[in-house]
Amino acid sequence: MPKELTLKNYMEDCVWELLDTVLEQDPEACKCEICRYDIAALALNELPPRYVVREKGALYTKASMLETQYRADIYSALTRALMKVKQNPRHQV
Ligand SMILES: [Zn+2]
Repeated sequence: MPKELTLKNYMEDCVWELLDTVLEQDPEACKCEICRYDIAALALNELPPRYVVREKGALYTKASMLETQYRADIYSALTRALMKVKQNPRHQV
């Protein structure tokens, strides 16, 4: 019986994973949920999507981190996004 398949933007997982690292390195960064989502969205809009096929409901094994080049791209996109959100947070400080 064929399994149900689904598409997943692997880049999104990588962005969430690196987001914590970027936030930890900036003590002034707001770490609330609103800012975290804003940062992730801004970074993801800059980065190329990387869709992979997954089986629906399958346990998601953490894929090996993207190649070093992507890692660097994600990191700098996140850093830029963090600066933007810091300067112009969506909520009252
Ligand atoms: Zn915030």
